[in-house]
Amino acid sequence: MSKYALTNANTGEVEQTFETLTPEQLPAIIDAADEAFTLWKATPIGQRGKVLRTFADLVDENADELADIIGREMGKPLAQGKSELEKVARTARWFADKAPIHLAPTELEASGAERTYVVHQPLGVLLGVMPWNFPYNQIARFVLPNLMVGNTILMKQASICPVSSQKFQELLEEAGLPRGVYTNIYMDSKDTEKILKDFRVKGVSLTGSEGAGASIASIAGENLKRQVLELGGNDPFVVLDTSDVKKLAQQAVTYRTTNAGQVCTSPKRIIVLEEYYDDFVAAAKEAVENVTVGNYDDPNTDMGPMSSESARDDVLKQIQDAVANGATLVTGGEKLDRPGWFMSPALLTDVDVESEAGQEEIFGPVVNVFKAKDEEDALRIANATEFGLMASVWTEDLERGRLFAERINAGMTFVNKHMESEPAFPFGGINRSGFGRENERWALREFTNEHLVRVH
Ligand code: NAP
Repeated sequence: MSKYALTNANTGEVEQTFETLTPEQLPAIIDAADEAFTLWKATPIGQRGKVLRTFADLVDENADELADIIGREMGKPLAQGKSELEKVARTARWFADKAPIHLAPTELEASGAERTYVVHQPLGVLLGVMPWNFPYNQIARFVLPNLMVGNTILMKQASICPVSSQKFQELLEEAGLPRGVYTNIYMDSKDTEKILKDFRVKGVSLTGSEGAGASIASIAGENLKRQVLELGGNDPFVVLDTSDVKKLAQQAVTYRTTNAGQVCTSPKRIIVLEEYYDDFVAAAKEAVENVTVGNYDDPNTDMGPMSSESARDDVLKQIQDAVANGATLVTGGEKLDRPGWFMSPALLTDVDVESEAGQEEIFGPVVNVFKAKDEEDALRIANATEFGLMASVWTEDLERGRLFAERINAGMTFVNKHMESEPAFPFGGINRSGFGRENERWALREFTNEHLVRVH
């Protein structure tokens, strides 16, 4: 049973609790979203864009308060929270500007008729199921393009983020979104089945764990509903060559400890060519030990607490299991003796690629460094995963990097950057990382009826 509460990750104190809807209350909410669909799909796209632009302005104006909420809910340091909010505003503006272009009817060159074209129409009510790690941006990536399409949304956000998810709705409505077009609901995760069984609900987008993804996918499949799944990752960060090992190790550690490592696209396996390995590990050790762990509202904090007690304890257990299976814990990886869900970041080496610690996602601040004999060995390790979300390759030879990038099994690969996600390019994975795409024009095609019209 999901329990919606704001439990301060920095102190462990429950600050606010919320009632969960009963299954009997859900049909009325679907009725309202379906009624709102009739109105919203008929609203001109320019008007929808205006709502998104006003929303972006409100996000900017309220950024301090919004960042403070998630700092308490899930521990994100204020500066990182504000940068998340800037991305939300960018996403709103990007879709307000670009959706009218990408959703214009597509003319087809097909002989034998006066005109043949495809009109991109909304489907109806959609369900979103989102996680707590980027409480605003995960919602934004799914919701904002779909509002431009003309769909209406029921949102089940993670139960540890009840205030931020409600705030998202309030700001959209303040920006002019009619009631019922976007509805935040506090519901038990098992009741998502009741929603997906309803004919008026046309699809679901879930970002979260594989378990939740598999459960939603099977219910959606049974009910013939469209779906997008953004699941976990075990992303490789491959160092082929560098003229500054120390700087690169520092960058890798910063990426891996951002948001306390609770990022689907965090570089969870750092693969370093033999000739750089020892220097890289030494520099990574120093960088890990220099990470300042603290409360979300302390400006000196690099890394806040984990999002919940269980999130922290799961990661500590994964570290212990890795060590029991032969890995070396070079530094960190300890529970901190203070209130809240704090741990020190960890550096692991000697993890067997095929072991659990090499194969399963560690959703926390664990820098896991692997040694590769040469470039082919690095590629073998990078692709020795059932996940396939993001990857990066680091080299001063851009052509070498580009060619290597194309051989990695992932949905997104960057040369000399990692964890870049922007509205201007597509986001999504393959294999156990899920399917479907968010951002750019691809986000506008997941929940549309590509309606062919042929005029003879
Ligand atoms: P989670 O437990 O799957 O929770 C995510 C959302 O799914 C929450 O709203 C949760 O609700 C709900 N949920 C859980 N079990 C469900 C079920 N059986 N049916 C329907 N809904 C269910 O995920 P998490 O552990 O909080 O989040 C971390 C995971 O998300 C990691 O694996 C991470 O890699 C992945 N992630 C992926 C991306 C991406 O874009 N690919 C981005 C961020 C995170 P409750 O809170 O009520 O349990």
